[in-house]
Amino acid sequence: MERKVFQLGDVVQMKKSHPCGSNEMEIIRMGMDIRIKCVGCQHSVLIPRAKFEKNMKKVLRSNAIDEAQQETL
Ligand SMILES: [Zn+2]
Repeated sequence: MERKVFQLGDVVQMKKSHPCGSNEMEIIRMGMDIRIKCVGCQHSVLIPRAKFEKNMKKVLRSNAIDEAQQETL
């Protein structure tokens, strides 16, 4: 089974979109639970890590690879 890799500051795409219409979330806190912030409306929610991993589709932008992908600015 594929293990999802993500870290603080990553912008991820969720399977279900937020009521505001955006499905991009930024990880703003990591721990037992993960706090994510909606890129569309800035609303933040705290969800259990297992649920987050289940609902996350993929990492769109990661701090780890940011330096190689700065041209998107
Ligand atoms: Zn939203």
